[in-house]
Amino acid sequence: METLVRIFANGAVFTGIRDAPWTEALAIRGADVVGTGTHTDLRRTFAGALEVDLDGGTVLPGFVDAHNHFLSTGESLASIDLRYPGVASSADLLARIRDAAATTAAGEPIGGFGFDHARYALPPIAQLDAVAGDHPLHLFHTSGHHVLVNSRVLRDAGVDDDTPDPPGGRFERDADGHLTGLCLDTACGEVLPTAVDVGSHGPNFHVRESLDTLVAAVARADAAFVAAGLTSVADAQVTSRELAAYREARARDVLRIRTVCMPLSHQLEDFASIGLVGPFGDDRLSIGHLKLYADGTLTGGTAAFSDGLGFENQAASFFHEPDDLVALIERAWVAGWRIAVHAQGDRAISLVLDGFEAGERTAPRRDARPRIEHAGFPTPRAIERMRALDVVAVSQPSYLHDFGDEYLASLGDRAGELQPWRDELESGVRVVISSDSDVVSYRPLTTVANAMRRETRDGVVLGAQHRLSLEEALFAHTADAAFAVGLEHRIGSLEPGKAADLTILSGDLRTLDPAGLEATDVVATIIDGRPAFGRALL
Ligand SMILES: [Zn+2]
Repeated sequence: METLVRIFANGAVFTGIRDAPWTEALAIRGADVVGTGTHTDLRRTFAGALEVDLDGGTVLPGFVDAHNHFLSTGESLASIDLRYPGVASSADLLARIRDAAATTAAGEPIGGFGFDHARYALPPIAQLDAVAGDHPLHLFHTSGHHVLVNSRVLRDAGVDDDTPDPPGGRFERDADGHLTGLCLDTACGEVLPTAVDVGSHGPNFHVRESLDTLVAAVARADAAFVAAGLTSVADAQVTSRELAAYREARARDVLRIRTVCMPLSHQLEDFASIGLVGPFGDDRLSIGHLKLYADGTLTGGTAAFSDGLGFENQAASFFHEPDDLVALIERAWVAGWRIAVHAQGDRAISLVLDGFEAGERTAPRRDARPRIEHAGFPTPRAIERMRALDVVAVSQPSYLHDFGDEYLASLGDRAGELQPWRDELESGVRVVISSDSDVVSYRPLTTVANAMRRETRDGVVLGAQHRLSLEEALFAHTADAAFAVGLEHRIGSLEPGKAADLTILSGDLRTLDPAGLEATDVVATIIDGRPAFGRALL
């Protein structure tokens, strides 16, 4: 058994404990934290300990990304990056596809992610066809909810101008009624070679691949995540494809980051038939909250608002009819699941709260820990209801940077009330920040900096009063995020008995502005006391 104690000192220690968030030194033994406090005290308590020099840097409980599309991120890292501003026009988009077509074997698919047509008009499908040649082309919108395809894909899928829109989605058509290749929300599932049928329970980006390809994607994202300082992630949309990939990655010893799976709601009855309810698993790989979808996205204009609060011309996507959504949430709640529901517009949030309240009435239970994912535009009344139900708001600060200018254009001044953290915190709602990678960057320091800035790409501040302080942002990405994923007994704070999951950064975060903080180097990432990334400190 590992008995040697290591003391990390000569820097700053963020503990993740509210009574005493900062201290001087940290002691770990093997895979466990054994103490925090002054350097002198720890030396006295652990005589003979090995000293690790933080060299003026900061050690934190490892960052926890409570809403992340882990496997999809790994896939995106190997596909064409179409994110703005790298791709800022339809000409750029076509050039990237042409380049990929030139280096892809004949007939093999071309994948891309992150296009943002709020920034430019998409090219007509004839131009996509011209540059993609005979390759099937699937380009994911930056929200992950929409896909742009060429005629070859539509033809293979049997989708033509006469195909009706599926419930919860739409095939975009031009003024003459011809398909443009853009498939919104559930329509994605009709055109992609998907591994699973998720019905109208969510956007279907679960593309069929071999297990080896999927495990390689997991390993790729795992390496990227630990290099960015993450030690735990929750995959916010898990099907049999993802769970198989994570299990196999673990078996092959390439899954280092702690992974919590949030299975998608289309599997609810299957789980019921074998008596499975989360949380289930261990502290390295587990099943956590059940994930449901209420509405679409802010970026695609498919979020569901009340009249007068949302977009000029609303085209909300409801994945379920309103009564069905409430009933589905109630059923999952009564089955014993912790539940997380994607809801952006106030109308969707209100329905989700109806569902949670119905569950609570029928089957009250301690620690049901409901989450609302994104929680874009909760009204003051919704925030009160969230407080009463102990709902966790799982937010994405980097949306405000990457898409904030688009929100301003579509919502005007109301964009300042998106993700209203100050109101939520003052009401006693637990606020968690996360990435939603690969929609935006998975880097926790970028997420923290964007939470402190709330600034758009063009430099407009959205709701300055809702900015988080450094400490608030760190709690929201460590201790409170650990609570949101159900692992707070093991991770999220540096307390004796918890896992030695550490992120070590090069500077003292308290002395840095958000830009400096975002540029800070990750010196090392440690999981269960073992280095997963960085300089050998141990
Ligand atoms: Zn997501």
